[in-house]
Amino acid sequence: MDVFVLTGAGISAESGIATFRDANGLWENHRVEDVASPEGFAADPRVVWRFYGERRAQALTVAPNPAHRALAALEARLGDGLFLCTQNVDGLHEAGGSHQVVHMHGELFKTRCADPECERPPFADTRHDFAELPRCPCGALQRPHIVWFGEVPFDMHRIRRRVQKADVFVCIGSSGVVYPAAGLVGEMQYRRSMGHRVRTIYVGLEAPANADQFDEVHEGKAGELLPGLLA
Ligand code: NAD
Repeated sequence: MDVFVLTGAGISAESGIATFRDANGLWENHRVEDVASPEGFAADPRVVWRFYGERRAQALTVAPNPAHRALAALEARLGDGLFLCTQNVDGLHEAGGSHQVVHMHGELFKTRCADPECERPPFADTRHDFAELPRCPCGALQRPHIVWFGEVPFDMHRIRRRVQKADVFVCIGSSGVVYPAAGLVGEMQYRRSMGHRVRTIYVGLEAPANADQFDEVHEGKAGELLPGLLA
């Protein structure tokens, strides 16, 4: 059985990391476009690095919750039959024991050169106090290894290939408004129209914007519902 799991900010809410929909479009009191867009970085890289420094400092203090651990247990059972794709950047899936995680929106604890021509690869980075703006040896500014609004998510080719062979699609804690992630469940309807038996399941506090694409919507906290659902 092939299972495709897509996680969003809601799965980390019980670990103490704020989702951004819950704050009326503000993310930890910042306008998203100021701190999570290429234009915001070009306008004021200090504000952006301060924001991600705070996110890193906070993420270092939180722990995975039962939902992250339930997905790690599912990986132990299904092996390569599970494809875990996260929109989250916090690293809590790995902290919860998952080994194979596709980070479509990047990783909080990685940094890369902001110059797309520079060949230095992204590197692991837990720095969170940026008195000076970090610079690459090539001289350009460094930036968080995060996919910002307006940028193309990572690994889309691999993600599409796996969703196109999934039997079960499970989405956890994602409001269904950030594309292309919100459109992935639509691939399952195509598979169904081709005669495949597929199942689509949503787990989260409330019905997402794309709820009509799911066969089942389980409303509640991921940490409370997921261990039972996946058992
Ligand atoms: P979102 O903030 O738009 O929506 C979060 C969803 O989670 C909401 O529908 C909410 O009802 C639900 N939710 C809240 N608490 C929950 C709980 N305990 N259990 C289950 N569901 C719960 O999140 P999104 O759809 O992932 O889109 C936001 C974007 O912002 C993503 O691209 C993501 O990369 C980024 N982001 C990441 C983090 C993180 O890494 N933890 C945090 C905030 C935002």
